[in-house]
Amino acid sequence: MLSPDVIEKQKKSLIAEKERLQQKIEQLKKFPDYGKSEDDNARELADFQSNISIEEQLVHLVSKIDGALKSIDAGTYGQCLKCKAGIEDGRLELMPYADLCVICSKSGDKKR
Ligand SMILES: [Zn+2]
Repeated sequence: MLSPDVIEKQKKSLIAEKERLQQKIEQLKKFPDYGKSEDDNARELADFQSNISIEEQLVHLVSKIDGALKSIDAGTYGQCLKCKAGIEDGRLELMPYADLCVICSKSGDKKR
């Protein structure tokens, strides 16, 4: 079980990370403006398209963070969604939004 202190710390880093991601998403939504030449326009379009895929990943992360924040409120934070075991402390420190333990996340990857 995670101590309330640890959970409070994780909650703060989740909220900070969410704000950082949301700012980044806002920046990525803007269409870049490098200039008026055809090269510039081509570069703008290429960057905008790669921004969209980055944006999708960030939006996905934000939804994981929301899920983690909800699980803190529900008292299930730090519990693996699949096997219900506690998620490793080191993993939670690196990825406060982790919702699977190392073993389950690895077995999930294999199926894909
Ligand atoms: Zn698990």
